[in-house]
Amino acid sequence: MKTAAVWFRRDLRLQDHTALSEAVKWAEEHNGKLFLFFQLNPAFLEKPADFRHHYFFQTLKAFMDNCRDHKIAFHLMYGETEEIMEMVIEKVPEINLFLFNEDETGYGKERDDKVKRVLKENEVDYWTFQDHFLHGAREVKKQDGSLYKVYTPYYKAWSKLEKKQPAEIDLKKLSACSVSIQDLPDTGAEKLEEMIGSLEEREDIGEEAALKTLKEFTDEKLEDYHKKRDLPAEAGTSRLSRYLKTGTISIRTVYHHIMQTEDHPQDTGKETFIKELAWRDFYNMVYVQFPNSVKEEADKRYRSIKWNTDKERLKAWKEGKTGYPIVDAGMRQLNEEGWMHNRLRMITASFLTKDYLLDWRLGEAYFAEKLVDYEPGSNIGGWQWAASVGTDPVPYFRVFNPVTQSKKFDPDGEYIKKYVPELRDVDVKRIHEPWKMSSGEQKEAGCIIGTDYPEPTVNHSEQRVKAIEMFQGI
Ligand code: FAD
Repeated sequence: MKTAAVWFRRDLRLQDHTALSEAVKWAEEHNGKLFLFFQLNPAFLEKPADFRHHYFFQTLKAFMDNCRDHKIAFHLMYGETEEIMEMVIEKVPEINLFLFNEDETGYGKERDDKVKRVLKENEVDYWTFQDHFLHGAREVKKQDGSLYKVYTPYYKAWSKLEKKQPAEIDLKKLSACSVSIQDLPDTGAEKLEEMIGSLEEREDIGEEAALKTLKEFTDEKLEDYHKKRDLPAEAGTSRLSRYLKTGTISIRTVYHHIMQTEDHPQDTGKETFIKELAWRDFYNMVYVQFPNSVKEEADKRYRSIKWNTDKERLKAWKEGKTGYPIVDAGMRQLNEEGWMHNRLRMITASFLTKDYLLDWRLGEAYFAEKLVDYEPGSNIGGWQWAASVGTDPVPYFRVFNPVTQSKKFDPDGEYIKKYVPELRDVDVKRIHEPWKMSSGEQKEAGCIIGTDYPEPTVNHSEQRVKAIEMFQGI
């Protein structure tokens, strides 16, 4: 009896999963068995657990519960990558094929390359698939075969390409061919319990929650997405990024569900949303072109910039104590929820790099540590965009003004008040610049500037000039 292994990674779902669909087809054709597994890397347990890891591991647990409910055998294996692959090859009888959805960039790619080497050495075949993106990095090319660097022409080409349909998986068939191997150590499950500990169970976990989120968004928010997506107090975006990151929903399911919704006259909600999905593919493609971009600027001209690394400023930014309410609200949302609204990601990233003149790599690393939806390509791309050092960035002379941004996108200060409770009783006309309150106003609002809430730690107008000069000096 032949057996194939399906290696799960950041694709924790049972529907529209390319490697799994192909594995089920293979099992039918060969009357074979499937060994489904996830490798839990000890490196994860060395780091202090944060939002991102908690979210991921709770998702993994929910996925395992889902497999159990459908009587699908699934193994959680604890150990180093190569060690686990060798163990699967050794202990699973008649194993002759591995299937997995591969990573095109970063750590994921390095790990895949390592595993492919192990499989080759052991003469085990492997089939890999591009599953995470609507279009993989090398699918959208210019006429001369090269890859794009600028989003608008990329999007034009991207939108003309056919998008693969989601594939339904018959879970009864999967259950019938999945195998459980008795003499494999089951330390993974114990370690997972250790990781999750006594964490409160989250509701925003798993395939069912992902589909529900998608449906609610299309029914209630898609039509006005283009009008409300920039207003953080409105919650007008889909909040699907955490599910896309952990793979509890496929990108094809999201795309086709949106495309099937009824058209409205001048349907810019739908169009704007699809353009955002294309940004996700775009940034993955940029990361493939610039594999070193977590460390260095895609735009060579700016690699010699001497960014600041002041620890005090970095601390104030991380803690949401810059004295600029909209920036502080964004950072506190990130610290409290492991997620931040897109407009705030742009504002806080611009503030770190153009007001504090701090190295964008420090900000990128902090987001990477905190975000439940952390995607290397999108995060690096977003940071290099904001710092004006990427392939298609905000021009360096167009510096975001945190006060103007605040007035425009949080006009009533609702978002600020939610995350910066010290400012809850500040009048709306002062909420964006609380340092302008008279001492009487401060007393009335119960917020003394410099005591209850910081004074602005920098002067925006002066810092803007310094930032522009820094770029012009290159
Ligand atoms: P929606 O507005 O509902 O968008 C739908 C989907 O489109 C998102 O889930 C996401 O997959 C994709 N998308 C939307 N905007 C972008 C964008 N600008 N770039 C790439 N994809 C996009 N997104 C991440 O998924 N992971 C990150 O680590 C990440 N880091 C960022 C860092 C910075 C500095 C900036 C400016 C943006 C970053 N983004 C990142 C993009 C964006 O902020 C998030 O995708 C979005 O806020 C997620 O919320 P949502 O699902 O409600 O988005």
